Amino acid sequence: MKRYCREAIAGIAGYVPGEQPQDRRYIKLNTNENPYPPSPAAAAVLRAFDPEQLRLYPDPVAMELRAEAARLAGLPGPDWVLAGNGSDDLLTIGARTFADAGAPLAYTDPSYSLYPVLADLQGCVRRPVSLEPDFSLPDDAAKLAGNAPLLFLARPNAPTGNTFPLAGMHNLCREFPGVVWIDEAYGDFAPDHCLDFVRQYPNVIVSRTFSKSYSLAGLRLGFAFARPELIAEMMKVKDSYNLSRLTQTLGLAALQDQAYLKDRVAAVCRTRDRVAAAAVALGCDVIPSAANFLFLRPPRPAAEVFQGLRTRGVLVRYFPGGRTGDRLRVTVGTDEEMDVFLRELQGLCP
Ligand code: PMP
Repeated sequence: MKRYCREAIAGIAGYVPGEQPQDRRYIKLNTNENPYPPSPAAAAVLRAFDPEQLRLYPDPVAMELRAEAARLAGLPGPDWVLAGNGSDDLLTIGARTFADAGAPLAYTDPSYSLYPVLADLQGCVRRPVSLEPDFSLPDDAAKLAGNAPLLFLARPNAPTGNTFPLAGMHNLCREFPGVVWIDEAYGDFAPDHCLDFVRQYPNVIVSRTFSKSYSLAGLRLGFAFARPELIAEMMKVKDSYNLSRLTQTLGLAALQDQAYLKDRVAAVCRTRDRVAAAAVALGCDVIPSAANFLFLRPPRPAAEVFQGLRTRGVLVRYFPGGRTGDRLRVTVGTDEEMDVFLRELQGLCP
């Protein structure tokens, strides 16, 4: 049959999202969602939302939301913020804004599996920058990324969960001539972050999402922070109305409830640290996590443990092959959910 699509599209498999099972109820620890409900303030705004408002288009530039995000980030104003339909939307906008077809697009590896797919979609040449054997950032990361116009990096990293020291991040941002995109999807769970880098470096973009710490994966909202010169270019590329009225309204309510955010993040981190210690006691190798998940190597082959857990109603994530195939990524759920996980893990790895 005649092929109608671009060669770059026909030649790739596309991104494979984590499983959203419909067959039965699982303890769902596979896509790094937050086990707690969203802010009650956001829930109240949702209940009071008048559907009549949906007759009209939303604010195309989400001004109120961006102004509040800038204020909370300690940045001068909304022109330092781009709002997106989840951070995947922002990453796509980034690839389209900064990376010409045919150019290399750099990303750390192993990391978020969307990065190489975005390189493919854009017709770029993949340029993976290999993390060290312990998944730390190589000292010469800037050199390895070379002349790429854009480097994607997640901090804390996914699926490994570790973070990278700030000193190395400063070196990278100073040395790399292109745009350094620091994906802080899990930044709220980490002891420090790079938000203030965007004031210091003209080539740095930091992105955040509401999908993890804010318990709003189903809403689709994220922010990218950068100098206004970079934001202005990305504003040209985004869809004209990329955030619905409902998203803007609920997102603002959630953003304004920082006390709830901090409280739930602390709860997730407490559970994370408890489960990490318990998994070590069960014979797992656990990478110290600065995120809302653990990346662990069980004492039995990871593929078998993954299947065994699945059969027992606990869904975790397994990335076969390469440097990730001997480990499982386990999202931190409630204490009760994690107790079931630990019990089933112990049953499988006696
Ligand atoms: N970045 C990283 C590192 C992630 O793990 C995820 C979650 N899949 C995202 C970005 C995308 O999150 P969202 O589009 O839900 O904001």
